[in-house]
Amino acid sequence: MTNSVDVAIIGAGLAGLAAARQLSIHGVEVAVLEASDGPGGRVRSDYVDGFTLDRGFQLYNPAYPEAARVLDHAQLDLHKLSGSIGIVGEGTLHSLTDPRRNLLKALSGLSPSTGHLTGKAKLARYAWQQYRRSVAEIESQPDVDALTALRAAGVDQRTIDQVLLPFFSGVFLEPDLSTSRRFLDLVLRTFVKGTPSLPRAGMQAIADQLHAALPEQSVKFHSMVRSLSGTTVCTDDGATHARAVIVAADAPSAAHLLPGLPIPAGHHVTTWYHATDQVLHDGRPTLVIDPTRSGPLVNSVPLSNAVASYAPPNFTLISSSALTSHGTEHQVRHQLARMHRAPTNSWSLIGSYSIDYALPAMSVPLQVRKPTRLSDSIYIAGDYRATASIQGAMVSGRRAADAILQDWAIPVDKVTR
Ligand SMILES: Cc1cc2nc3c(=O)[nH]c(=O)nc-3n(C[C@H](O)[C@H](O)[C@H](O)COP(=O)(O)OP(=O)(O)OC[C@H]3O[C@@H](n4cnc5c(N)ncnc54)[C@H](O)[C@@H]3O)c2cc1C
Repeated sequence: MTNSVDVAIIGAGLAGLAAARQLSIHGVEVAVLEASDGPGGRVRSDYVDGFTLDRGFQLYNPAYPEAARVLDHAQLDLHKLSGSIGIVGEGTLHSLTDPRRNLLKALSGLSPSTGHLTGKAKLARYAWQQYRRSVAEIESQPDVDALTALRAAGVDQRTIDQVLLPFFSGVFLEPDLSTSRRFLDLVLRTFVKGTPSLPRAGMQAIADQLHAALPEQSVKFHSMVRSLSGTTVCTDDGATHARAVIVAADAPSAAHLLPGLPIPAGHHVTTWYHATDQVLHDGRPTLVIDPTRSGPLVNSVPLSNAVASYAPPNFTLISSSALTSHGTEHQVRHQLARMHRAPTNSWSLIGSYSIDYALPAMSVPLQVRKPTRLSDSIYIAGDYRATASIQGAMVSGRRAADAILQDWAIPVDKVTR
């Protein structure tokens, strides 16, 4: 079967959906070809026995500017993950207010054993500097790795080792703060501006909302694009001829379709979901990090303490993430007992997800805005073309669409909510 369309978009992750949205709003006909059975790419959820399992622990920050412009937050019914942070120490669990809610408040809550006062003040000052900077200013700063940037800002080694390294290894999905300071700065800026949250119906609700706003039948599932030749895309069902193509696949898949495309290395994560009828941390959504590295996990959080709908009544759903796929469930359970200071023998394993290319590495030097136009008819989008985030994916998709609109002399409506 042969079809023709204005723009063929490969991939219905957030980048592809955002591109499709922007083009559709401007009257351009799109066909989104998606290999899997639903929208969202890496932002999907499963619903198992009354539990909501996001495919990998992730959070949505309502301060993401592009996402906030496009998404209906009220419909998502966002629940803030605004508990405290627990830090596993030798037999103790220090608590501090979640720095993703208010970094300064969190710092003032740090116990004396987790860093010198001046180091904390310097981190706070550093974070507020990023808050005040524009993205362009952040991009124009000389790039170094996050560890070097934090040290240069005067943050002491103890604060780095006890708090920042274990915390950010769960955000960047790498263990040594080798990520670009530009990405660190953007993340800090967003943490100061907004509270990471979860939609009541799970992260899938974000993708579903974008999908629902598109013209009917514009997304075709179970449509793996096997090859791209000029502006003709081929699936097992036939060819689609388009005036232009946006490749919005994840980086490894994009490199398969576009040989020679440089792509960043990827970071792995494994997320484990357990359930218990115990009440953990007095019902607060405490994010526990483990600087002692006493097991495979980097963090663990009783998610349903933030969003009750993630678990059936009287159950707690715990999400725990590891940067390695080598940890056994026995090791995980053992570490969880230390992290949550609770017996875990009776906890049930509800599911686990091992994701190889969860995030593209944001290595030094980081170009935050990579070109969207590969040729006069092939465009490209995806988080690895911007930043490794929901914001990055969505803004990259919209920019690729804008490039087509510009090339086709279609005026871009800046307010397209
Ligand atoms: C575990 C985890 C935790 C994360 N945590 C956060 C977080 O807390 N906050 C945050 O902002 N971001 C987080 N992220 C990052 C965020 O989810 C991603 O950056 C974003 O979803 C990437 O979107 P994308 O559209 O660029 O790519 P993808 O979501 O990978 O979408 C690409 C799509 O293309 C499809 N595809 C690939 N090849 C083909 C082909 N040949 N034919 C047809 N279709 C194809 C794929 O099936 C997929 O649906 C996390 C990601 C993971 C995995």
